[in-house]
Amino acid sequence: MAAATPGELTAARLSDIPSLDRLLNASRGVQLVGQYGHTQVAGALRICLDELRQAVIDDKASPDALLPDQILTQAAGRLEKANRGAFRPVFNLTGTVLHTNLGRALLPDEAVQAVVQALSQPMNLEYDLTTGRRGDRDDLVQKLLCELTGAEAATVVNNNAAAVLLMLNALGNRREVVVSRGELVEIGGSFRIPDIMLRAGVRLKEIGTTNRTHVSDYQEAIGPRTAMLMKVHCSNYEVTGFVKSVHIRQVADIAHAHGLPAAVDLGSGTLTDLAKWGLPHEPTVADTVAAGADVVTFSGDKLLGGPQAGLIVGRADLIARIKKNPLKRALRVGKLTLAALEPVLQLYKAPELLGERLTTLRLLTRPVQTMHAQALRLAPVLQQFVGPEYQVEPAPMYSQIGSGAMPVNQLPSYGLAIRTTAGKGRGGRALMHLEGRLRDLDRPVVGRVSDKALWLDLRCLQEADEAEFIQQLRGRAE
Ligand SMILES: *Cc1c(COP(=O)(O)O)cnc(C)c1O
Repeated sequence: MAAATPGELTAARLSDIPSLDRLLNASRGVQLVGQYGHTQVAGALRICLDELRQAVIDDKASPDALLPDQILTQAAGRLEKANRGAFRPVFNLTGTVLHTNLGRALLPDEAVQAVVQALSQPMNLEYDLTTGRRGDRDDLVQKLLCELTGAEAATVVNNNAAAVLLMLNALGNRREVVVSRGELVEIGGSFRIPDIMLRAGVRLKEIGTTNRTHVSDYQEAIGPRTAMLMKVHCSNYEVTGFVKSVHIRQVADIAHAHGLPAAVDLGSGTLTDLAKWGLPHEPTVADTVAAGADVVTFSGDKLLGGPQAGLIVGRADLIARIKKNPLKRALRVGKLTLAALEPVLQLYKAPELLGERLTTLRLLTRPVQTMHAQALRLAPVLQQFVGPEYQVEPAPMYSQIGSGAMPVNQLPSYGLAIRTTAGKGRGGRALMHLEGRLRDLDRPVVGRVSDKALWLDLRCLQEADEAEFIQQLRGRAE
Protein backbone atom coordinates (compact mmCIF):
# COMPACT_ATOMS: atom_id res chain seq x y z
CA MET A 1 0.00 0.00 0.00
CA ALA A 2 1.33 3.43 -0.96
CA ALA A 3 2.00 5.83 1.93
CA ALA A 4 -0.71 8.44 2.43
CA THR A 5 0.12 11.83 0.96
CA PRO A 6 0.29 14.78 3.41
CA GLY A 7 -3.06 15.98 1.98
CA GLU A 8 -4.76 12.67 2.77
CA LEU A 9 -3.32 12.69 6.32
CA THR A 10 -4.68 16.16 6.94
CA ALA A 11 -8.11 15.18 5.66
CA ALA A 12 -8.22 12.10 7.85
CA ARG A 13 -7.31 14.06 10.96
CA LEU A 14 -9.63 16.98 10.29
CA SER A 15 -12.49 14.54 10.33
CA ASP A 16 -11.25 13.16 13.66
CA ILE A 17 -11.85 16.49 15.39
CA PRO A 18 -14.78 16.00 17.77
CA SER A 19 -17.93 18.00 17.07
CA LEU A 20 -19.07 20.90 19.22
CA ASP A 21 -22.11 18.89 20.30
CA ARG A 22 -20.05 15.97 21.44
CA LEU A 23 -17.84 18.26 23.52
CA LEU A 24 -20.83 20.04 25.08
CA ASN A 25 -22.36 16.69 26.02
CA ALA A 26 -19.20 15.20 27.51
CA SER A 27 -19.33 15.20 31.32
CA ARG A 28 -16.64 17.92 31.55
CA GLY A 29 -18.58 19.98 29.00
CA VAL A 30 -21.80 19.68 30.99
CA GLN A 31 -19.94 20.74 34.12
CA LEU A 32 -18.51 23.80 32.36
CA VAL A 33 -21.97 24.79 31.07
CA GLY A 34 -23.25 24.56 34.65
CA GLN A 35 -20.49 26.93 35.77
CA TYR A 36 -20.25 29.46 32.92
CA GLY A 37 -23.48 29.03 30.93
CA HIS A 38 -24.01 27.63 27.42
CA THR A 39 -23.19 30.84 25.51
CA GLN A 40 -19.73 31.28 26.97
CA VAL A 41 -18.77 27.58 26.83
CA ALA A 42 -19.89 27.14 23.21
CA GLY A 43 -18.02 30.35 22.31
CA ALA A 44 -14.80 29.18 23.96
CA LEU A 45 -15.06 25.73 22.36
CA ARG A 46 -15.59 27.23 18.90
CA ILE A 47 -12.39 29.23 19.25
CA CYS A 48 -10.49 26.13 20.43
CA LEU A 49 -11.89 24.08 17.52
CA ASP A 50 -10.99 26.78 14.97
CA GLU A 51 -7.44 26.88 16.29
CA LEU A 52 -7.25 23.11 16.23
CA ARG A 53 -8.45 22.95 12.60
CA GLN A 54 -5.80 25.45 11.60
CA ALA A 55 -3.11 23.50 13.49
CA VAL A 56 -4.13 20.29 11.71
CA ILE A 57 -4.02 22.00 8.32
CA ASP A 58 -0.58 23.39 9.16
CA ASP A 59 0.46 19.90 10.25
CA LYS A 60 1.28 21.20 13.73
CA ALA A 61 -1.26 19.31 15.82
CA SER A 62 -0.26 16.24 17.85
CA PRO A 63 -2.75 13.33 17.80
CA ASP A 64 -3.44 14.00 21.53
CA ALA A 65 -4.65 17.49 20.72
CA LEU A 66 -7.78 15.98 19.17
CA LEU A 67 -8.86 14.24 22.38
CA PRO A 68 -12.10 15.74 23.76
CA ASP A 69 -10.52 16.03 27.22
CA GLN A 70 -7.63 18.07 25.83
CA ILE A 71 -9.94 20.44 24.01
CA LEU A 72 -12.19 20.85 27.05
CA THR A 73 -9.21 21.55 29.31
CA GLN A 74 -8.07 24.24 26.92
CA ALA A 75 -11.53 25.78 26.83
CA ALA A 76 -11.72 25.64 30.63
CA GLY A 77 -8.48 27.62 30.85
CA ARG A 78 -9.86 30.21 28.46
CA LEU A 79 -13.10 30.52 30.43
CA GLU A 80 -11.31 30.80 33.74
CA LYS A 81 -9.17 33.64 32.42
CA ALA A 82 -12.07 35.46 30.79
CA ASN A 83 -14.14 35.29 33.97
CA ARG A 84 -11.43 36.31 36.38
CA GLY A 85 -12.24 39.67 38.00
CA ALA A 86 -10.30 42.68 36.79
CA PHE A 87 -9.65 43.72 40.39
CA ARG A 88 -7.01 41.48 41.88
CA PRO A 89 -5.41 41.49 45.29
CA VAL A 90 -1.64 41.92 45.04
CA PHE A 91 1.27 41.75 47.46
CA ASN A 92 2.57 45.28 47.92
CA LEU A 93 6.31 44.82 48.44
CA THR A 94 7.19 48.20 46.96
CA GLY A 95 8.03 49.60 50.38
CA THR A 96 5.49 52.39 49.92
CA VAL A 97 2.83 51.87 52.55
CA LEU A 98 0.21 54.29 51.18
CA HIS A 99 0.69 53.42 47.51
CA THR A 100 -1.83 55.35 45.41
CA ASN A 101 -1.61 52.92 42.48
CA LEU A 102 -2.20 49.97 44.81
CA GLY A 103 -5.20 51.46 46.58
CA ARG A 104 -3.65 53.44 49.48
CA ALA A 105 -4.75 52.64 53.05
CA LEU A 106 -5.79 49.11 54.03
CA LEU A 107 -8.72 49.17 56.37
CA PRO A 108 -9.09 47.51 59.76
CA ASP A 109 -11.53 44.64 60.23
CA GLU A 110 -14.14 46.81 61.94
CA ALA A 111 -14.42 48.88 58.76
CA VAL A 112 -14.53 45.82 56.52
CA GLN A 113 -17.41 44.35 58.54
CA ALA A 114 -19.28 47.67 58.46
CA VAL A 115 -18.98 47.82 54.66
CA VAL A 116 -20.22 44.26 54.26
CA GLN A 117 -23.24 45.14 56.38
CA ALA A 118 -23.90 48.38 54.48
CA LEU A 119 -23.77 46.42 51.23
CA SER A 120 -26.33 43.87 52.24
CA GLN A 121 -28.69 45.63 54.68
CA PRO A 122 -30.72 48.85 54.50
CA MET A 123 -29.29 51.54 56.78
CA ASN A 124 -30.15 54.96 58.22
CA LEU A 125 -28.05 56.79 55.62
CA GLU A 126 -30.34 59.82 55.43
CA TYR A 127 -32.95 58.87 57.94
CA ASP A 128 -33.15 60.33 61.42
CA LEU A 129 -34.00 57.48 63.77
CA THR A 130 -35.12 59.88 66.54
CA THR A 131 -37.66 61.86 64.56
CA GLY A 132 -38.40 59.45 61.73
CA ARG A 133 -37.76 62.27 59.28
CA ARG A 134 -35.26 62.71 56.54
CA GLY A 135 -31.72 63.10 57.89
CA ASP A 136 -28.34 64.27 56.61
CA ARG A 137 -25.71 61.72 55.68
CA ASP A 138 -22.93 63.91 57.10
CA ASP A 139 -24.50 63.64 60.56
CA LEU A 140 -23.34 60.04 60.80
CA VAL A 141 -19.70 61.07 61.17
CA GLN A 142 -19.86 64.80 61.94
CA LYS A 143 -19.93 64.34 65.70
CA LEU A 144 -16.86 62.10 65.67
CA LEU A 145 -14.95 64.41 63.35
CA CYS A 146 -15.69 67.39 65.58
CA GLU A 147 -14.69 65.49 68.70
CA LEU A 148 -11.38 64.42 67.14
CA THR A 149 -10.44 67.75 65.58
CA GLY A 150 -11.98 70.34 67.88
CA ALA A 151 -13.87 71.83 64.92
CA GLU A 152 -17.49 73.05 65.11
CA ALA A 153 -18.76 71.21 62.04
CA ALA A 154 -17.69 68.78 59.36
CA THR A 155 -18.66 67.38 55.98
CA VAL A 156 -17.40 64.56 53.77
CA VAL A 157 -16.89 64.38 49.99
CA ASN A 158 -15.33 61.99 47.49
CA ASN A 159 -11.64 62.83 48.07
CA ASN A 160 -9.45 65.67 49.18
CA ALA A 161 -9.20 67.08 45.66
CA ALA A 162 -13.00 67.37 45.71
CA ALA A 163 -12.86 68.89 49.19
CA VAL A 164 -10.49 71.63 48.00
CA LEU A 165 -12.55 72.30 44.85
CA LEU A 166 -15.79 72.53 46.80
CA MET A 167 -14.34 74.64 49.61
CA LEU A 168 -12.84 77.12 47.13
CA ASN A 169 -15.99 77.40 45.05
CA ALA A 170 -18.29 77.76 48.05
CA LEU A 171 -16.20 80.37 49.83
CA GLY A 172 -14.28 82.12 47.06
CA ASN A 173 -16.26 82.07 43.79
CA ARG A 174 -15.36 85.10 41.60
CA ARG A 175 -13.09 86.44 44.29
CA GLU A 176 -9.41 86.20 45.14
CA VAL A 177 -7.68 83.57 47.25
CA VAL A 178 -4.20 84.37 48.53
CA VAL A 179 -1.60 81.55 48.41
CA SER A 180 2.18 81.60 48.83
CA ARG A 181 4.22 80.74 45.71
CA GLY A 182 6.05 78.20 47.85
CA GLU A 183 2.81 76.24 48.27
CA LEU A 184 1.52 75.98 44.69
CA VAL A 185 1.71 72.20 44.82
CA GLU A 186 1.22 69.59 42.12
CA ILE A 187 0.09 66.39 43.82
CA GLY A 188 0.30 64.10 40.79
CA GLY A 189 -2.53 62.72 38.74
CA SER A 190 -2.90 66.32 37.47
CA PHE A 191 -4.03 67.88 40.76
CA ARG A 192 -2.40 71.32 40.74
CA ILE A 193 -3.50 74.05 43.08
CA PRO A 194 -3.56 76.79 40.38
CA ASP A 195 -5.65 74.58 38.05
CA ILE A 196 -8.10 73.62 40.77
CA MET A 197 -8.54 77.30 41.62
CA LEU A 198 -9.35 78.12 38.03
CA ARG A 199 -11.96 75.33 37.92
CA ALA A 200 -13.38 76.49 41.24
CA GLY A 201 -13.99 79.94 39.77
CA VAL A 202 -11.46 81.49 42.12
CA ARG A 203 -8.73 83.98 41.21
CA LEU A 204 -5.37 82.92 42.54
CA LYS A 205 -3.43 85.74 44.15
CA GLU A 206 0.16 84.49 44.37
CA ILE A 207 2.41 86.04 46.97
CA GLY A 208 6.05 85.75 48.05
CA THR A 209 8.62 83.68 46.20
CA THR A 210 9.29 79.98 45.86
CA ASN A 211 11.54 79.91 48.91
CA ARG A 212 10.39 82.87 51.04
CA THR A 213 7.04 84.35 51.97
CA HIS A 214 6.62 86.93 54.74
CA VAL A 215 3.84 88.21 56.97
CA SER A 216 3.90 91.47 54.98
CA ASP A 217 3.24 89.54 51.75
CA TYR A 218 -0.07 88.32 53.18
CA GLN A 219 -0.95 91.75 54.59
CA GLU A 220 -0.26 93.58 51.34
CA ALA A 221 -2.20 91.08 49.22
CA ILE A 222 -5.51 91.73 50.95
CA GLY A 223 -7.91 93.92 48.99
CA PRO A 224 -11.65 94.40 48.41
CA ARG A 225 -11.87 91.24 46.27
CA THR A 226 -10.10 88.93 48.72
CA ALA A 227 -12.19 85.92 49.80
CA MET A 228 -9.70 84.13 52.04
CA LEU A 229 -6.09 83.35 52.84
CA MET A 230 -5.09 79.79 52.15
CA LYS A 231 -2.21 77.54 53.09
CA VAL A 232 -1.39 74.29 51.29
CA HIS A 233 0.67 71.47 52.80
CA CYS A 234 3.83 70.85 50.72
CA SER A 235 3.02 67.16 50.71
CA ASN A 236 5.51 65.75 48.28
CA TYR A 237 8.48 68.08 48.42
CA GLU A 238 10.56 70.06 50.84
CA VAL A 239 12.21 73.42 50.37
CA THR A 240 15.36 73.75 52.45
CA GLY A 241 18.10 76.33 52.79
CA PHE A 242 17.23 80.05 52.70
CA VAL A 243 13.54 79.61 53.35
CA LYS A 244 10.74 81.38 55.19
CA SER A 245 7.08 80.61 55.42
CA VAL A 246 4.39 82.02 57.67
CA HIS A 247 2.86 79.76 60.30
CA ILE A 248 -0.88 79.13 60.11
CA ARG A 249 -1.34 80.89 63.46
CA GLN A 250 -0.05 84.15 61.95
CA VAL A 251 -1.89 83.70 58.66
CA ALA A 252 -5.12 83.15 60.60
CA ASP A 253 -4.49 86.26 62.72
CA ILE A 254 -3.99 88.40 59.59
CA ALA A 255 -7.12 86.92 57.97
CA HIS A 256 -9.23 87.49 61.07
CA ALA A 257 -8.02 91.07 61.43
CA HIS A 258 -9.59 91.68 58.03
CA GLY A 259 -12.74 89.68 58.73
CA LEU A 260 -11.62 86.92 56.36
CA PRO A 261 -11.38 83.14 56.86
CA ALA A 262 -8.09 81.21 56.74
CA ALA A 263 -8.23 77.87 54.96
CA VAL A 264 -5.71 75.01 55.02
CA ASP A 265 -5.36 72.10 52.62
CA LEU A 266 -3.57 69.74 54.95
CA GLY A 267 -3.21 66.95 52.39
CA SER A 268 -2.59 63.78 54.35
CA GLY A 269 -3.94 65.21 57.56
CA THR A 270 -3.25 63.07 60.59
CA LEU A 271 -5.51 62.92 63.63
CA THR A 272 -2.81 61.77 66.03
CA ASP A 273 0.68 63.01 66.80
CA LEU A 274 2.82 60.57 64.85
CA ALA A 275 5.87 61.42 66.96
CA LYS A 276 4.24 59.33 69.71
CA TRP A 277 4.80 56.34 67.47
CA GLY A 278 8.38 57.18 66.65
CA LEU A 279 7.38 58.60 63.28
CA PRO A 280 8.24 62.11 62.04
CA HIS A 281 6.05 64.81 63.56
CA GLU A 282 3.24 66.26 61.45
CA PRO A 283 0.85 68.96 62.61
CA THR A 284 -2.48 67.26 63.32
CA VAL A 285 -5.86 68.49 62.13
CA ALA A 286 -6.64 69.47 65.74
CA ASP A 287 -3.39 71.51 65.94
CA THR A 288 -4.36 73.32 62.75
CA VAL A 289 -7.88 74.08 63.97
CA ALA A 290 -6.47 75.23 67.34
CA ALA A 291 -4.00 77.51 65.52
CA GLY A 292 -6.95 79.40 64.07
CA ALA A 293 -7.68 77.77 60.71
CA ASP A 294 -11.36 78.31 59.85
CA VAL A 295 -11.57 75.46 57.34
CA VAL A 296 -9.27 72.44 56.99
CA THR A 297 -9.42 69.82 54.23
CA PHE A 298 -7.66 66.44 54.27
CA SER A 299 -7.76 62.93 52.81
CA GLY A 300 -9.48 59.88 54.28
CA ASP A 301 -7.13 57.28 52.81
CA LYS A 302 -3.72 58.72 53.51
CA LEU A 303 -2.30 58.82 57.05
CA LEU A 304 -5.79 58.70 58.53
CA GLY A 305 -5.96 55.08 57.36
CA GLY A 306 -9.57 55.06 56.19
CA PRO A 307 -11.47 54.86 52.90
CA GLN A 308 -11.03 57.30 50.00
CA ALA A 309 -12.73 60.49 51.12
CA GLY A 310 -12.21 64.21 51.45
CA LEU A 311 -12.90 65.59 54.89
CA ILE A 312 -13.72 69.22 55.53
CA VAL A 313 -13.86 70.50 59.10
CA GLY A 314 -14.18 74.01 60.44
CA ARG A 315 -16.41 76.87 61.52
CA ALA A 316 -20.11 76.01 61.51
CA ASP A 317 -21.19 78.93 59.29
CA LEU A 318 -18.54 78.12 56.66
CA ILE A 319 -19.31 74.38 56.64
CA ALA A 320 -23.01 75.28 56.24
CA ARG A 321 -22.17 77.36 53.14
CA ILE A 322 -20.06 74.52 51.77
CA LYS A 323 -22.89 72.03 52.29
CA LYS A 324 -25.38 74.29 50.50
CA ASN A 325 -23.19 74.56 47.39
CA PRO A 326 -24.62 72.54 44.46
CA LEU A 327 -21.21 70.91 43.90
CA LYS A 328 -21.62 69.16 47.25
CA ARG A 329 -24.34 66.96 45.78
CA ALA A 330 -22.10 66.08 42.85
CA LEU A 331 -19.14 65.25 45.07
CA ARG A 332 -20.90 63.52 47.93
CA VAL A 333 -19.83 60.12 49.22
CA GLY A 334 -21.81 56.89 49.13
CA LYS A 335 -22.87 54.76 52.06
CA LEU A 336 -19.92 52.40 51.73
CA THR A 337 -17.49 55.23 52.36
CA LEU A 338 -19.39 56.47 55.39
CA ALA A 339 -19.79 52.94 56.73
CA ALA A 340 -16.03 52.42 56.47
CA LEU A 341 -15.08 55.84 57.80
CA GLU A 342 -17.01 55.72 61.06
CA PRO A 343 -15.29 52.70 62.65
CA VAL A 344 -11.89 54.07 61.60
CA LEU A 345 -12.63 57.37 63.33
CA GLN A 346 -13.88 55.44 66.39
CA LEU A 347 -10.45 53.84 66.73
CA TYR A 348 -8.93 57.27 67.35
CA LYS A 349 -10.97 57.53 70.55
CA ALA A 350 -8.66 54.87 72.01
CA PRO A 351 -5.26 56.30 71.05
CA GLU A 352 -3.42 53.77 73.26
CA LEU A 353 -4.67 50.95 71.04
CA LEU A 354 -4.30 52.71 67.71
CA GLY A 355 -0.86 51.29 66.89
CA GLU A 356 -2.25 47.78 67.00
CA ARG A 357 -5.72 48.38 65.55
CA LEU A 358 -5.24 50.90 62.76
CA THR A 359 -3.73 48.90 59.91
CA THR A 360 -1.86 51.85 58.38
CA LEU A 361 -0.22 52.74 61.68
CA ARG A 362 0.58 49.11 62.42
CA LEU A 363 2.40 48.80 59.09
CA LEU A 364 4.22 52.11 59.53
CA THR A 365 5.45 51.09 62.98
CA ARG A 366 6.40 47.45 62.36
CA PRO A 367 9.80 46.92 63.99
CA VAL A 368 12.74 46.25 61.68
CA GLN A 369 13.47 43.00 63.52
CA THR A 370 10.09 41.64 62.44
CA MET A 371 10.82 42.25 58.76
CA HIS A 372 14.36 40.94 59.27
CA ALA A 373 13.09 37.64 60.65
CA GLN A 374 10.60 37.45 57.79
CA ALA A 375 13.39 38.03 55.25
CA LEU A 376 15.42 35.14 56.71
CA ARG A 377 12.35 32.86 56.50
CA LEU A 378 11.46 33.85 52.97
CA ALA A 379 14.89 34.01 51.30
CA PRO A 380 15.17 30.25 50.63
CA VAL A 381 11.58 30.07 49.32
CA LEU A 382 12.24 32.93 46.95
CA GLN A 383 15.59 31.50 45.87
CA GLN A 384 13.78 28.31 44.84
CA PHE A 385 11.20 30.29 42.94
CA VAL A 386 13.64 32.45 40.98
CA GLY A 387 16.10 29.64 40.20
CA PRO A 388 19.90 29.71 39.86
CA GLU A 389 19.91 32.62 37.40
CA TYR A 390 19.30 34.94 40.32
CA GLN A 391 20.67 35.45 43.79
CA VAL A 392 18.31 36.29 46.67
CA GLU A 393 19.69 38.04 49.74
CA PRO A 394 18.10 39.46 52.88
CA ALA A 395 18.91 43.17 52.87
CA PRO A 396 18.20 46.34 54.84
CA MET A 397 16.22 48.95 52.91
CA TYR A 398 13.99 51.97 53.46
CA SER A 399 10.21 52.16 53.23
CA GLN A 400 8.24 55.28 52.44
CA ILE A 401 4.99 56.44 53.92
CA GLY A 402 3.67 57.38 50.48
CA SER A 403 0.81 59.48 49.10
CA GLY A 404 2.76 62.64 49.61
CA ALA A 405 3.13 62.18 53.34
CA MET A 406 6.62 63.13 54.44
CA PRO A 407 8.41 62.37 51.18
CA VAL A 408 11.89 62.98 52.54
CA ASN A 409 11.50 60.81 55.62
CA GLN A 410 12.26 57.17 55.20
CA LEU A 411 11.53 54.28 57.53
CA PRO A 412 14.24 51.66 58.12
CA SER A 413 12.98 48.31 56.90
CA TYR A 414 14.14 44.90 55.77
CA GLY A 415 13.45 42.71 52.79
CA LEU A 416 14.99 40.76 49.95
CA ALA A 417 17.31 42.02 47.24
CA ILE A 418 17.39 39.91 44.08
CA ARG A 419 20.26 40.28 41.64
CA THR A 420 20.97 38.38 38.47
CA THR A 421 23.89 35.98 38.33
CA ALA A 422 24.00 36.30 34.52
CA GLY A 423 26.91 38.05 32.77
CA LYS A 424 27.23 41.79 32.37
CA GLY A 425 24.72 43.55 30.16
CA ARG A 426 21.99 40.95 30.54
CA GLY A 427 21.03 41.94 34.07
CA GLY A 428 18.43 44.55 33.17
CA ARG A 429 16.43 42.26 30.94
CA ALA A 430 16.65 39.38 33.41
CA LEU A 431 15.25 41.60 36.19
CA MET A 432 12.42 42.76 33.92
CA HIS A 433 11.66 39.15 33.12
CA LEU A 434 11.56 38.31 36.83
CA GLU A 435 9.30 41.27 37.59
CA GLY A 436 6.99 39.96 34.87
CA ARG A 437 6.96 36.47 36.40
CA LEU A 438 6.04 37.92 39.80
CA ARG A 439 3.27 40.01 38.25
CA ASP A 440 1.97 36.94 36.48
CA LEU A 441 1.27 35.04 39.71
CA ASP A 442 -2.35 34.45 40.78
CA ARG A 443 -1.82 37.11 43.41
CA PRO A 444 0.78 39.33 41.73
CA VAL A 445 3.82 40.42 43.71
CA VAL A 446 4.92 44.02 43.12
CA GLY A 447 8.42 45.13 44.12
CA ARG A 448 10.68 47.85 42.85
CA VAL A 449 13.78 47.82 40.67
CA SER A 450 16.72 50.09 41.37
CA ASP A 451 20.51 49.79 41.37
CA LYS A 452 20.44 46.61 39.27
CA ALA A 453 18.39 44.73 41.84
CA LEU A 454 14.75 43.88 42.45
CA TRP A 455 13.86 44.94 45.99
CA LEU A 456 11.05 43.26 47.88
CA ASP A 457 10.33 45.28 51.02
CA LEU A 458 8.55 43.06 53.56
CA ARG A 459 7.02 45.88 55.64
CA CYS A 460 3.59 45.39 54.07
CA LEU A 461 3.61 41.58 54.05
CA GLN A 462 1.40 41.08 57.07
CA GLU A 463 1.91 37.94 59.15
CA ALA A 464 -1.57 36.73 58.21
CA ASP A 465 -0.63 36.77 54.51
CA GLU A 466 2.75 35.11 54.79
CA ALA A 467 1.52 31.53 54.41
CA GLU A 468 -0.33 32.40 51.21
CA PHE A 469 2.74 34.19 49.90
CA ILE A 470 4.96 31.14 50.51
CA GLN A 471 2.47 28.65 49.15
CA GLN A 472 2.04 30.55 45.92
CA LEU A 473 5.80 30.71 45.32
CA ARG A 474 6.25 26.99 46.14
CA GLY A 475 3.61 26.09 43.58
CA ARG A 476 5.39 28.01 40.84
CA ALA A 477 9.11 27.39 41.50
CA GLU A 478 11.47 27.29 38.52
C1 LIG B 1 -3.03 64.21 48.45
C2 LIG B 1 -3.32 65.65 48.46
C3 LIG B 1 -4.44 66.15 47.80
C4 LIG B 1 -5.38 65.25 47.06
O1 LIG B 1 -6.03 64.37 47.93
P1 LIG B 1 -6.87 63.14 47.35
O2 LIG B 1 -7.53 62.57 48.55
O3 LIG B 1 -5.87 62.23 46.72
O4 LIG B 1 -7.82 63.68 46.36
C5 LIG B 1 -4.67 67.49 47.83
N1 LIG B 1 -3.84 68.33 48.47
C6 LIG B 1 -2.73 67.89 49.12
C7 LIG B 1 -1.84 68.88 49.81
C8 LIG B 1 -2.43 66.53 49.15
O5 LIG B 1 -1.37 66.07 49.77
